[in-house]
This record gives sequence, structure tokens and C-alpha cells, in this order.
Amino acid sequence: MTDLTQIPRRLEEIRQTLPEGVGLVAVSKFHPAEAIEAAAGAGQRAFGESRVQELQAKVERLGHGPYVWHFIGHLQTNKVRQLLRLRPALIESVDSLRLLDEIDKEAGRQGIVQPLLMQLHVAREETKFGFFPEELLDWFRARGFESLRATHICGVMGMASNTDDTERVEADFRLIRSVFDEIRRICPDLRGFDTVSMGMSDDYGVAVRCGSTLVRVGSAIFGTREY
Ligand SMILES: *Cc1c(COP(=O)(O)O)cnc(C)c1O
Repeated sequence: MTDLTQIPRRLEEIRQTLPEGVGLVAVSKFHPAEAIEAAAGAGQRAFGESRVQELQAKVERLGHGPYVWHFIGHLQTNKVRQLLRLRPALIESVDSLRLLDEIDKEAGRQGIVQPLLMQLHVAREETKFGFFPEELLDWFRARGFESLRATHICGVMGMASNTDDTERVEADFRLIRSVFDEIRRICPDLRGFDTVSMGMSDDYGVAVRCGSTLVRVGSAIFGTREY
């Protein structure tokens, strides 16, 4: 359950553990606007949502001003227009070339440049979404990004296997980081490609050790979600 009174203290505790240069996205999906306001009151700016409909309701209620919205969920191509109209600061979950193409076209139509991250699939199970490392590396080797007109690829996002096996989790995060480093090596001319989004409530400490620059933390800030 959302516990508003605990939010400032939990946020502060997490911030204390994050090294300089590692950003924090507060994942507010399934939590009410009041929880977001409580976090913003404690100095949090970036919030993560995973459903377009829910993001829309929250943007309509809270606006942009002090809030910076990240989209972190699986996105269907038929929702791209609606999402882009909400002007998310970063779409972290681009998981196919078809989706990337659709975002690029729609951003062009709306006259904006949309920042985004390419989602990697490294976990053993769980999510079916994301690019396999070799698939993404091949695309960068072929300089697929050169045909994009209205998107800016800022980095990669990924999730580790959902397991208590810390070595497994660490191996997943190290793989995500190494794909990011390899892309930078292959394409040294990529500008503003500097974000490695990895780490959630249960594993952000491990992710930071493995080279995360952005962690996405939900339940450790807002409490457990009621779906
Ligand atoms: C829900 C979600 C999170 C946050 O998960 P917690 O375990 O609550 O911290 C992070 N990233 C993505 C992509 C999510 O869907």
C-alpha cells in the first residue's frame, strides 16, 4: 500500500546510497498522484510510468513544471501518438525497430525530437521484451540510427533476471554495461549517448556497482503496488 508519510525518508535513504552522477527515477506506476506530490515535495523530479493511460491521467493532473516523466513500460505502436503528445522526457523502453521507426515518424509529425533508450533483453526469464545484445550491436554496426530524423538515442535500459542469485544479477548488469560500452566504441561519433538505465528496488545497489547511471526505483520509495 502507498504510505505517504514514509516517502521522504525512503527517498533520502536511497539518495544517500547513490554515487554522484547516478540519477534516480521514482517509479510511480499504480500509485496515486498524492504519492508523486509527496516525493516531489522531498525534492524528487523524475517519475517513471509504464502505461500510457495512467501517465496521461497524471500529466493532466500534475503537469510538467516540477515533474519530469519517463515512460518505462512496453509500448504498442498504436499508442505512440498519444504518448508523444504527453511529452515524456525519456522513453526508456524502445524494444523493437518497428517501434523506433514509429516513434521517429510521429515525433517528426509533432515537430519534436524524442529522447529514448534502447531496451536490452538479457534476463533469463521474465520479460520477453528488448533487443538481444548481438542484435542491437549489429544495428549500431550498420549505423541504423543514421536514418532517424526525430529521435535521439541517449543510451540503453535493461533489467536483470528476477532471482536472489546475486551473481546472476551481477552478470546481467555487467552484460548490459558492456553492450553500452561496445556501442560507444563502435560509434564514437554518437552524441549524447551516455545513459545506462538499470537497477530497481531489489537490485539497484548491484546495478550501481556494475556501472548504472540511472536507477528506476518504485516499491522501495512508494511501498508495494496494488494492481
Ligand atoms: C515497475 C518497474 C520498475 C520498478 O520496480 P520496483 O521493483 O518497484 O522498484 C523499474 N523498471 C521497470 C521497467 C518497471 O516496470
